[in-house]
Amino acid sequence: MGQAKKQKGGIYIHVPFCVKKCVYCDFFSCTDLGKIPVFVDSLIDEMNMTVDFPFHADTLYIGGGTPSLLEPVQIQLLIDAAGNRFQVAPNAEITLEANPGTVNAEKLAGFRQAGVNRINLGVQSFSDLALEFLSRIHTAEEAFQSVEFARTAGFDNVGLDLIYGLPGQTERMWQADLQTALSLSPQHLSCYMLTYEPGTRMENNLRNGCFHVLPEKNVGLLYEFTVQYLEDSGFNQYEVSSFSVSRRTRSKHNQKYWTHAPYIGLGPSAHSLIDNRRSWNVRSLEAYLRRTGQGQLPIEETEELNFRQLMMETLYLRLRCVDGISIPDFEKRFHIDFNRRFGAVVSTYESDGYDGYDGYVEMINDKCRLTRKGMLFADSIASRFIDSI
Ligand code: SF4
Repeated sequence: MGQAKKQKGGIYIHVPFCVKKCVYCDFFSCTDLGKIPVFVDSLIDEMNMTVDFPFHADTLYIGGGTPSLLEPVQIQLLIDAAGNRFQVAPNAEITLEANPGTVNAEKLAGFRQAGVNRINLGVQSFSDLALEFLSRIHTAEEAFQSVEFARTAGFDNVGLDLIYGLPGQTERMWQADLQTALSLSPQHLSCYMLTYEPGTRMENNLRNGCFHVLPEKNVGLLYEFTVQYLEDSGFNQYEVSSFSVSRRTRSKHNQKYWTHAPYIGLGPSAHSLIDNRRSWNVRSLEAYLRRTGQGQLPIEETEELNFRQLMMETLYLRLRCVDGISIPDFEKRFHIDFNRRFGAVVSTYESDGYDGYDGYVEMINDKCRLTRKGMLFADSIASRFIDSI
């Protein structure tokens, strides 16, 4: 059940600063930009205090927040410090999340020179109206330009994040976004359905009747349109929201989360998973700076994942991936007969005609996976599997 030490690990660095908080966002971030320099020092302190991470890391992901608020020299410092402290492969995938409102050609060139080889731009939309609704800090033109700047800076692995399912959004509007995105020839697209997370300003606005959500049925149709449109354009879906032009350009780092590969998280609110032990850091910049400043690790809590939790997470995570669950691997890992345990759930969802649609689950080549239609209900189908544990 332990993670074999030959397994490759990942390193995640959470940079919790943003110019302003977007109304829909529930990630941990703050706008206290004056603290960036001390924060960079604290991250390096945290790396140096961290007990051994006994894995070769082939991914380093700098996310947030808005890590592109840092200067290239600060990103360089972090990459170098991670390389000194951990065993980072020379050809590791090094990703930086960037907000189009915080970059220009020179800065992106600096990130590339610092060693970043994959850039993920939080474009979200190429419509100014949509960007305004999402309270993004950039315009559609800036989003477009940032992708061109990234290319000029020498990035040949560019990912774009987009959001769909906005109030009033039609297929034609969403198609225009996808078309513009494709015209920029990205290697990767993450298309996220807009969700209304508790505690966000957007959820509050919704409760106050400021707008009406797009009906679920329309969101479902947009999802199906996305998959078909992107497949017709040469992109393959490999996870509910993730599309890539080739296997090589899939996010190696994100796949670690979906396979329980070992990863270490640095920075406030970051999570780690090492040998079935999950730990997470304090979700407060002040507490993070204080703890690291006192020479203490900023860990909030640690839990040992038991057999049942691991099985639940595996079902939940693997069903969101197009490759699904490898039945031989699952049976070997959890010592159970997959069909005996989950056969009834599989047949409920496998049968054609469920709710008037084709099947939601399919068994193919020793794999149990969701169909395209099933992917739309990945979480609720996964909970039916989990009920059968
Ligand atoms: S820029 Fe990203 S992390 Fe920051 S508030 Fe907006 S969505 Fe959240």
